[in-house]
This record gives sequence, structure tokens and C-alpha cells, in this order.
Amino acid sequence: MDKATLSPGATIGILGGGQLGRMIALAAANLGYRCHIFCQSADEPAAQVAAQTTIAGFDDTNALDSFAGAVDVVSLEFENVPITSLERIAMTTPVYPAPSVQAVAQNRLKEKSFANNLGIATAPFRAVASAEELHDAVAEIGTPSVLKTVRMGYDGKGQVSIKADTDLDSAWTQSGAGPATDGGILEGFVTFDCEISVIVARGIDGETSAFIPVENRHTNHILDETIAPADIPAATIDAANDIAIRLAQGLDVVGLLAIEMFVTPDGNVLVNEVAPRPHNSGHWTMDACRTSQFEQLVRAVSGLPLGDPSRRCDAVMKNLIGDDVNDWPKYLADPSAKLHLYGKAETRPGRKMGHVNFLGKPVAG
Ligand code: AMP
Repeated sequence: MDKATLSPGATIGILGGGQLGRMIALAAANLGYRCHIFCQSADEPAAQVAAQTTIAGFDDTNALDSFAGAVDVVSLEFENVPITSLERIAMTTPVYPAPSVQAVAQNRLKEKSFANNLGIATAPFRAVASAEELHDAVAEIGTPSVLKTVRMGYDGKGQVSIKADTDLDSAWTQSGAGPATDGGILEGFVTFDCEISVIVARGIDGETSAFIPVENRHTNHILDETIAPADIPAATIDAANDIAIRLAQGLDVVGLLAIEMFVTPDGNVLVNEVAPRPHNSGHWTMDACRTSQFEQLVRAVSGLPLGDPSRRCDAVMKNLIGDDVNDWPKYLADPSAKLHLYGKAETRPGRKMGHVNFLGKPVAG
């Protein structure tokens, strides 16, 4: 076996204790690995299923050092781990994807510029550092447009839509953009036919493997359903896959890269954002593909060959948000449904509590 290959029994460290970490740990266990979760409380979803945990803040250097010393490789399920913490761990232990990838993905300006520099299209955008600059940016980009924080936004948090009659000073305040978020970014509003995503795995040796493009439908800015496969023309599938592979290679990702894209009415594919980790739009792969996104990540960071990403059947993934989780008995009784619950003790509106994969038509062959 190659030196970079982890043998069964090795320990994978994961920064972040949410549901993504839980599902990575379960996939890792299936391949004989242990997971050590670095998170904030012993009851987090990933901590519940892990061999070991470190409960500490992401800026606790002593805890980071002993975590790095206790694991063979580190990956992450949480996007906003400080880059300095990742760099500290990387001095002694491989971090996949590397801190340099996280630095691009944590920053909406850097991620769009990175894509554009590879010749990959995004919405038009401008950096906005203050309310005054927002006036100039709106004059350039026009309306409708969307003001977002450069950092820390997810599920629509830190986003304000800008129309012709929007009061820009209050929009700036409302967005929460400021020094703590590295300012704001104004993006032209994209009129799209659908939103799609591609998740690509890339191994230590540079081998890549992509899951098919899927369609994502959001409600209140939160992913509601993923439809696999996306009902898009072959040329759009090829364009989306090509973008995903070029970004994974360009960023030198080891692990997973999820790319969210808009498909416009004239068939153009624009990148919205990237996430160097498992992605909610890949949960359908757990039951419908020969290799799940979580197993693929474990394989990639462990130096194993990547698995077969092909799908055995079509699928629809539905998120169980907040009180939706109370319907779990209904899904257990449905033979086409596979239920996944995250072990979260408290149900809150907007909180992702679990998901259901509805399995559809088998793929011939
Ligand atoms: P984000 O946090 O960037 O993923 O945005 C959350 C959701 O807001 C996206 O999935 C889209 O539905 C919508 N959105 C974000 N940016 C734009 C844009 N520039 N044009 C149109 N819709 C957008």
C-alpha cells in the first residue's frame, strides 16, 4: 500500500460535530476507520457516533494540537473553522481539503474570482465595504440584485435582495455586512430555470469522480428537496460536470467539492457557490448510489481508490426541517422511503433534523 494510504483502524479527525460529521463517521466506521470529532458539545450529532471527541473551541490551540497529534488525517464538515486553526493542524497532520481551499470557499469574493479566473461564469459581482460603496455598486450592477456578506452566510442568512426602490442604507445594516464578515458582495440577480449541484470527489493522486448533476429546490432559502437526476439537457450536464472537475482540479481539492450552480433559460451554467465538504444535495447518494458522498470522502482522504458513483435508481431527497421530523413514523411505514435522523435533541424552526430519501425508478443495466 502507498504511504499515504490509511489502513483500517486508523483515525480520521473531523472538525465540526453536525449531521455531516455524523454521516462521515458512520461511513468511516463501515470501512474500519475510527473518527475523532472536534466540536463544541458532547451531544452534537457526530459526537454521538464517534470513537473519540474533543470538546473545545476552534481557536483553542492546546486542544487543536492534541487533536492533531491523536489523528492520522483531518477533514472538516463545518465551513467556518478559522484558517489559522487549519494551518496550525496542517503543520503536523494532513488536512484535506487543504486550508488554501477553505480560504477560497469561505469567502464569496474569492470563490467567484477563482471561478472567473478559470473562465467559469458567475453572476456579475462587486465588493462592497460600506453603505456608500453599496450605492456605487448598485449603480454598476443594477437591480434586481442581492447583497450578501462575504463570509459566514449560509441558508440565506446575511442576504438582502435589492430592488429599484430599496433603501440602500438600511439594506446595508440589515445584511449584517461589516468588518466581522470582511464586508459585503453585491451580486446581479440571476433569473434561472433551475438550481443544480454537482459533487466531485478527488483523491490524493488527483483522480476525480463526480456524482450526476441534481436539481435543488429551496423553501425560505433552505434546501427543501433534491431531485436526482436533474432534468436538464445532455449539454448542460456536460457543462456542469466540466465546471465541477475544473474547479476541483484548479483548487487542488483532496476530498469533496460541492458546486451549486444556476441554469439560465438560455442554457448557461453559472456557479453560485462551492463547499469543500459533503453537501446536503448529496444525501440522496446514501441510498441510491453504489458509493455515497460520505464513503467517497473517506476514501479520498484515506488514500483509497474512489468508489463507483453511479446511481442504482432515481431518488428524491426531502429535508426534515423543524417540526417535519414529527412525521418520522409515516416515512418508516413507506417502503420507498429511507429515513435518516440526526439525533438532535431540540427541534427548532429552520433546523435540519433529518432527511428522507425516496427511491424511484431503477436505472437499467
Ligand atoms: P447562497 O447562500 O449564495 O447559496 O444563496 C441561497 C439561495 O439564494 C440560492 O440557492 C438561490 O436560490 C438564491 N440566490 C443566491 N444568490 C442569487 C443570485 N445572485 N441570483 C438569484 N438567486 C440567488
